[in-house]
Order: sequence, then C-alpha cells, then structure tokens
Amino acid sequence: MAHPIWMYLLFGVAVSEGASLLTTVYLHRGSTHRSVTFNPVLEFFMQLGLWLTTGIDRKEWVAVHLCHHAHADQIGDPHSPLLLGFWKVQLGNFFLYRRAARDPKVLWYGRNIMPTFAERTIFRSELLGLVIGVAFLWFSFGFWPMLIIAGTHVFLYLFFLNNLINGWCHARGYKNFSSDVAFNNRFIAWITMGEGLHNNHHHKPGRPSLRYKWSEVDPGWIFIKIMCLCRLARIS
Ligand SMILES: [Zn+2]
Ligand SMILES: [Zn+2]
Repeated sequence: MAHPIWMYLLFGVAVSEGASLLTTVYLHRGSTHRSVTFNPVLEFFMQLGLWLTTGIDRKEWVAVHLCHHAHADQIGDPHSPLLLGFWKVQLGNFFLYRRAARDPKVLWYGRNIMPTFAERTIFRSELLGLVIGVAFLWFSFGFWPMLIIAGTHVFLYLFFLNNLINGWCHARGYKNFSSDVAFNNRFIAWITMGEGLHNNHHHKPGRPSLRYKWSEVDPGWIFIKIMCLCRLARIS
C-alpha cells in the first residue's frame, strides 16, 4: 500500500460523512420535508454522490422516512426502538429499512416523488452506482486500500451513523420539546451532520435548520446556508 492504513481509514470516514451530508440536506430536508430546494445542477451532483456511495432509491427513502413521521414511536413506525427494542434498531437499522422499503403500505408514502430525468436514465440501476464507486477506488488506490475505504464507509453509514439517529436518538438524550418524540444529542449531531438534534426535528419536521440553542451545531444547516449564499439553494 502506498500510504499508511490510517489515511485510508480517514478517507473512508470522509466518504461516510459526505454521504451523511447528502442524506440529510438532499434526501431528508430537501426531498422528504421540502424545506429547501436545490439548483438542478447541484441536485444532479448530489444524486451522483449518493448513487456512487449509497445506492439509495430516493423514492423509497422518502417513503420510509415519511412513514416514520406518520407513526413516530407508534404501531406502524418501521424502526422504533421503543417498539422493537433498542439494540434491534441500533444494530439492525439497515435490515429494518430494507424490509420497510419492500412493503407496499410504506411505499405509499413516497407516491408524490417524481424521479428526475437523471434518476430515470443514468442513475436507474442502484447496483451500478456502487460498482462504479468501488471500481473507482480500486483503480485509484489498489485492492486493499479499496477494501479498507469501502469497508469503513459501509460500516459507518449502514451500521453506525444512521443507526444512532433512528436508534439512540429515539431512546436517549435530552429534549427541548417534551411533548414531541425523540431526543437530542450534541455529539451525534456533529457526526451526523445535524441529524442528532432529533427531538428538535420531530418538533417541526418542515424546518430546514435543526438547531434551537446556541450550543447546538447543525453542520447540514451551515452547508445549506452557504449554498443559499451561492444561489445554489433556496429555503422553500
Ligand atoms: Zn425520528
Ligand atoms: Zn424527518
């Protein structure tokens, strides 16, 4: 390997954090809650980034998340630790998501999402995006570095970061709004691009910023504000 292992591990963390940023600002705040609209060119590159690193179908993701909001911590919530048990969501969030994304009752919630031209053509195959992403790493860095970078990203994105939001933040933390579900955790907010301020989010899902206190940091909101300044996004 041309570089020390820690550099590849760090690169894997950066890929996962980048995917988390795109997930919160584009999939979550943009497509699901429609609190921000992005310039079509920026939207294309956000879709490209998610295609290469996650293989997520946007319509499915929106459906599962809207179903979560409709039934938060009640019967019908696809991934509530209060119903299913903390560890089942904290460790198995990915499998719960996959199961929900195949359920027609859950998919109904995504009925208003219209795939863009790029999604209907270039990004049509979710698997192809992941194959291209992995091939890019392999040709750029070699086989073992590819395995370390991709492995770090898969572990963090599928089995750690998103799990903290749906698992930990629905079971532990502090609340700014006691009548709303979920909890906030400042450290989780840092590493999930703001999503850890989850009680704040459930209080007002259509609010593009997830922070309410000066001590709360929402990196996703900082990104959106910079994009607004560059005229690449606007608050809807
Ligand atoms: Zn939630
Ligand atoms: Zn939401």
